[in-house]
Amino acid sequence: MTNHINKPSHVLLFPFPTQGHINPFIQFSKRLHSKGVKTTLITTIHTFNSTLPHNNNTGIIQTISDGFDAGGLTSAHCAESYLETFKKIGSKSLGDLIKKLQSEGTTIDAIVYDSLITWALDVAIEFGIKGGSFFTQACVVNSVYYHVYKGLICLKPGEAVSVPGFPTIEWCETPSFVQNYEAHGAWSETVFGQFGNIDQARWVFTNSFYQLEKEVIEWMRTIWKLKVIGPTLPSMYFDKRLEDDTYYGLSLFKENHTECMNWLNEKSAKSVVYVSFGSMIKSGPEQMEEITSALHDSNVNFLWVLRAKVEGNLPNYLSYAIKTRRGLVVEWCRQLDVLAHESIGCFVTHCGFNSTLEAVSLGVPVVGMPQISDQPMNAKCLDDIWGVGVRVKADENGIVRRGNLMSCIKKIMEEERGVIARKNVVKWSNLAKLAVDKGGSSDKDIDEFVYELRYGC
Ligand code: UDP
Repeated sequence: MTNHINKPSHVLLFPFPTQGHINPFIQFSKRLHSKGVKTTLITTIHTFNSTLPHNNNTGIIQTISDGFDAGGLTSAHCAESYLETFKKIGSKSLGDLIKKLQSEGTTIDAIVYDSLITWALDVAIEFGIKGGSFFTQACVVNSVYYHVYKGLICLKPGEAVSVPGFPTIEWCETPSFVQNYEAHGAWSETVFGQFGNIDQARWVFTNSFYQLEKEVIEWMRTIWKLKVIGPTLPSMYFDKRLEDDTYYGLSLFKENHTECMNWLNEKSAKSVVYVSFGSMIKSGPEQMEEITSALHDSNVNFLWVLRAKVEGNLPNYLSYAIKTRRGLVVEWCRQLDVLAHESIGCFVTHCGFNSTLEAVSLGVPVVGMPQISDQPMNAKCLDDIWGVGVRVKADENGIVRRGNLMSCIKKIMEEERGVIARKNVVKWSNLAKLAVDKGGSSDKDIDEFVYELRYGC
């Protein structure tokens, strides 16, 4: 027994500084806090300065420099430059923060870092602190990356592969970093680099839940001390054991919350198609036109998150749909509140893993429109493996045409396929709630981590 029994354990949590990575870390931090662990969230100066002032119970936040204090990731001239500088300046800055905390008498029992920030583990080890790598993507995605990294599978265009515990994966369903390593340069290196020092991590965490990826998780447990701790949604959507935990709490974008809720409240049950492609993707003009036409021609109610300012840029026919309140276009919304609203009939999603888990957890059937990164694999899971939606096919130029999108929306909103998807998603949603609730598989894994922290094992 090496630890201070009467003093709470203290964990630093360090997400990659983008919205989709910050959200699961915040929620993990809140869960740990609710179990008596002191937590400190670390983010970059620019991210901290960009967050909006309505944060609720996100706990203590400390900042470090990524070398781009004024503009963050988007101000770097390329990904390579950002990632290199982040490593160089970030390692030093993280080390300085640890020294500062220690000099103030604050003990640090572990650093849970984003699996993309492998250098955080090197810093932790330098200070004799245990590290835990947190995968914010699906276990099967990380399994594919691992198998490619280790040379255990070799993917060639047109050929299918398999990894333990998962059915055959077609080449076009694999993550884009696997399909085209070169095209993604520094990002590909970062994604495969996740495994470079992982064997030195004391823990590996993943934002999934046991029932959802059981067989893959069983395989992962043969190589790592895996804690499966998701889905990391605010407690209010699940067990309600965390008071006031209604919202992720650290948003980089300004939401049109009241406008969305008022508009949704006017709509009848399951009549709205919610369209959002997350925080990173910006569709080009050709793709925009296809989506616009599909939403118009489908004649459904639609709520569309379009992060670029669009006033004046939408075609007249869509502006008319908005004027007559059939449609609403916003720059950002509280996605969880939207998905949980009874008027939502279907989610047209890029299949980012948070959006994927949120749809599954909140029982919303999907139309998957994956574009890059892990999204094609998540779309496969949503469609083929979990049976909660359909995937829309892109043409040879990677553009999803209006006819295909309309037909997929129709399938979910009006046809038998939609009824089946809804039935399946309700089943998964119930299993997700059980996993997070007291004594559920994710709750137990978090408890185990808390125990190991406390007793230094
Ligand atoms: N999100 C949101 N409002 C929006 C769009 C997205 O709150 O209008 C949240 C969403 O709930 C999710 C995150 O942003 O938690 C996006 O993460 P995801 O992994 O789906 O996609 P990424 O942005 O990483 O591509």
